[in-house]
Amino acid sequence: MESISKTLKSTKKMVIKIGSNVLSLENGHINEELLENIVDQSCRLMEEGKQIIIVSSGAGICGATAIGKWSRRGDMNYKQALCAIGQVELMMAYKHFFRKYDQTVGQILLTRNDFAKEENALHIRNTLFTLADEGVVPIVNENDSVSVEEIKIGDNDTLSALVANLWNADALVCLSDIDGLYDKNPKKYADARLIEVVDDIEETLGKIQVDGTSDFGTGGVITKIEAAKMVRSYGIPTILLNGKKKDVLLKAMEGREKGTGFSV
Ligand code: ADP
Repeated sequence: MESISKTLKSTKKMVIKIGSNVLSLENGHINEELLENIVDQSCRLMEEGKQIIIVSSGAGICGATAIGKWSRRGDMNYKQALCAIGQVELMMAYKHFFRKYDQTVGQILLTRNDFAKEENALHIRNTLFTLADEGVVPIVNENDSVSVEEIKIGDNDTLSALVANLWNADALVCLSDIDGLYDKNPKKYADARLIEVVDDIEETLGKIQVDGTSDFGTGGVITKIEAAKMVRSYGIPTILLNGKKKDVLLKAMEGREKGTGFSV
């Protein structure tokens, strides 16, 4: 596979997925400084002629930050209520930071149902194309306040892969709180080694150890691997980078930060 730097440089249409772990501080609040840096990087990439779609988690965290209660409640109605509050906060933060660059954002909230029918998917595709072609940054999230088990996508890695395929992206970039895929969980094992290139996903999976879901009960590294498989079937490469690192996208493009690249 060509280097991450080369892939990022040649990418015109980029889907950037931002995980909940990236956006949360240890106190459970949203990391605004980091969000601002991701917006700064996106705008710098757009100045270079790239188009960006952001798939952003973080509604639950923003909700908990805003209302200061319910964050530990497990009942579905409270979780969904928290997301309803938090989604507004999340979009306000994006709007605020993008505004510095005179950049307009648009919100798209989706569930699995929206992809089930070809006609529906076509409408989403047209909206994504229209927004991006008109220079607006679409910010996509699962519609957590309405999605119940039957219509849930379940994690934003999968959602970002669906969006990348629908929009014919050139690359899917997943920002998480680790540098990429390791031979074992880097949070548990200090000697875990970063896998910089994945040519054969199945073969790699057979050799590594992956732990289950994340602290937020969704995703985990396995859904990133599944997402990489989904987009690879459309000829789209996936890149995993550490979104907690300042300017990681720009540095990776210059070959100054490492990550994991899944070849097509
Ligand atoms: P996000 O919220 O950014 O989507 P997740 O928490 O869902 O991220 O998934 C990333 C987490 O997966 C890492 O923080 C890491 O602890 C865990 N993980 C488990 N096994 C591995 C592995 N082999 N390589 C990388 N990460 C792993």
